[in-house]
Amino acid sequence: GKADNPYAGARVYVNPEWSAKAAAEPGGTRVSNQPTAVWLDRIALVTGTSGKMGLRDHLDAALAQKGSGELVVQLVVYDLPGRDCSALASNGELGPTEIDKYKTQFIDPIAAILSDPKYAGLRIVTAVEIDSLPNLVTNVSGRPTATPACDVMKANGNYIKGVGYALNKLGSIPNVYNYVDAGHHGWLGWDDNFTASAEMFKQAATAEGSTLSKVHGFIVNTANFSALKEDNFTIDDSVGGTSVRQSKWVDWNRYTDELSYAQAMRAKAVSLGFDAGVGMLIDTSRNGWGGTARPTGPGPTTSVDSYVNGGRYDRRIHLGNWCNQAGAGLGERPQAAPAAGIDAYVWMKPPGESDGASKEIPNNEGKGFDRMCDPTYTGNVRNGNSMSGALPDAPLAGQWFSAQFRELMKNAHPAL
Ligand code: BGC
Repeated sequence: GKADNPYAGARVYVNPEWSAKAAAEPGGTRVSNQPTAVWLDRIALVTGTSGKMGLRDHLDAALAQKGSGELVVQLVVYDLPGRDCSALASNGELGPTEIDKYKTQFIDPIAAILSDPKYAGLRIVTAVEIDSLPNLVTNVSGRPTATPACDVMKANGNYIKGVGYALNKLGSIPNVYNYVDAGHHGWLGWDDNFTASAEMFKQAATAEGSTLSKVHGFIVNTANFSALKEDNFTIDDSVGGTSVRQSKWVDWNRYTDELSYAQAMRAKAVSLGFDAGVGMLIDTSRNGWGGTARPTGPGPTTSVDSYVNGGRYDRRIHLGNWCNQAGAGLGERPQAAPAAGIDAYVWMKPPGESDGASKEIPNNEGKGFDRMCDPTYTGNVRNGNSMSGALPDAPLAGQWFSAQFRELMKNAHPAL
């Protein structure tokens, strides 16, 4: 049977490709032995390309790292039709209608490899289709944040079908542990998004032959920057009779950080019928917010805004900013069972890999130019019409961004 928490008592695979890039940076060997995920973000990466290891290459390397102990391998399964419907930076290779290609040329070959008895001793964690299901809740018609592409993906059902198919196929393999992407508090922490998203997870987890038992847990904050725990204020605080929920930063959200959000989302999922043992993963790769600008205590109680803004670790211009955020640092190092209901802190987004280019760069990966990655952009309705807060001179999503990696190390919390 499957372990209740696959991370318990196990080491986690160090991706040699990421590790080499990290180690080549000044001071990079302080973190280059940390485990990060392997992103399967296009069909070609299942077999591998001339420059990049394929899935079998990674699993063979994992067996070598495993030795006689337990080892977790982390895979991000990320190639849905019409991928990244509310943004452009991570648009993918498959068009909105290419669900059959997704099933037969992406998920089936992955499942065939993971089913090889040779790999039966590995604990394989999959983070399934980042950002997809939340987009069907928050970025569709009826919401001010709607995009035409998300309306298409909701109407054609191909996100639901793709996720259901992936969960069923991969979750049927005895040593595969599926974690469904559950956004982050700065996206789904509002009342109108929270329950609707959990219901959407259930709908996908029961589509295409999947059942709730195919879901081992959920992952939050993947590739995002939301703080793990804001110590200097809580959602229950008020200043002069005004709740922090009314501050500009919190803006009526129910949560101030990822730990409280993850625990609440876990409880909500269980209340809807997911297994009582589901566990949460939190991506802490880039939510450290350390360095000299980190507040050392609560902000002044002159107003609710000064209190929250003076105390918050997360120093983004707006909670909706997501691309290559200036000032961010490495967060908690990966670790098993750090808190109640949390299976692990993980580095799912490999730190140092870009979220998107700051300018238009022609490419053959299907990736678009999203102005949220342009530091001169003044924003849109999804980030309160704020500056993007992105670092300049970023390469395409997924490519190595040396300047970002150096800043992440500099602002690490805990410090390196
Ligand atoms: C990109 C992927 C990349 C991943 C991890 C995403 O934003 O679209 O291509 O593999 O980040 O860096």
